[in-house]
Amino acid sequence: MDSNPDTQTTPTVFLVGAGPGDSDLLTVKAMRLIQSAEVVVYDRLVSEEILELVPVGASRIFVGKKSGQHHMPQSDINELLVKLGHAGRRTVRLKGGDPLVFGRGSEEAQRLDEAGVAFEIIPGISAAIGAGAYAGIPLTHRGLASSVRFVTGHCREDQPLELDWRSLSDPDTTLVIYMGLANINQIAEKLVAAGLSATTPAAAVEQGTTSVQRRHITTLEKLPQDIATHNFVAPTLLIIGRVVAVAGTMDWFKTGADEVQDDALVAAQ
Ligand code: SAH
Repeated sequence: MDSNPDTQTTPTVFLVGAGPGDSDLLTVKAMRLIQSAEVVVYDRLVSEEILELVPVGASRIFVGKKSGQHHMPQSDINELLVKLGHAGRRTVRLKGGDPLVFGRGSEEAQRLDEAGVAFEIIPGISAAIGAGAYAGIPLTHRGLASSVRFVTGHCREDQPLELDWRSLSDPDTTLVIYMGLANINQIAEKLVAAGLSATTPAAAVEQGTTSVQRRHITTLEKLPQDIATHNFVAPTLLIIGRVVAVAGTMDWFKTGADEVQDDALVAAQ
């Protein structure tokens, strides 16, 4: 709404999706904006390769979480963007994947709108799309999955995960779980309890699309144990559904990272 008398007309803040990691997966628009930024505000998931595109004279502001330290609270990030916008600094707010998929980009956009700062939103390739393609897992496939759901496996501290397990346990739906590592035991248990077959194919993809991508294919019931055994760490995406079984026939992306044995594929041979 343009009720604010100071509302800008020329955008100064750009909420930009940086994609899942491989810098070649940036959009042309994202690249152009990064290369002409005066300030870049970024978080942990933005790769070094992409940060190298930031002009030498531009300010880089890291607002992500460093190990052991707290990240900047969302409200402070919002206010920082408002301040930069009001100052007329050409600001790129870079986020991993897509800014509006579990990225809190909409909260930033709402605050900018409220403060009269003109902004644009540049979509990015979300981890589900990027890691799916590079892991050789189609999110839909005729006869195997007719829909996809992007689910967060993260909950606030000390809170149980509040997901609609019955609706998630549909065998015709591919589940893509973001931020699922910490709660994978609970997720697998609840899905099976709600009726999803324990032998449903499942995959973990760590650092998807990058040169250190690791992929492990297993079943829903074995997923929690396998994740622990193979020591998967963030960022890891979990994909659960019959489509995962297709992975063996679409395995085009090879990395130098440790090969993780694909139990289900091996068993199927
Ligand atoms: N906005 C981002 C998601 C942010 S939530 C997007 O659209 O992709 C952070 C979670 O995304 C991570 O915990 C992980 O589950 C997933 N993720 C992001 N990048 C990833 C990658 N390269 N490989 C695997 N998972 C990734």
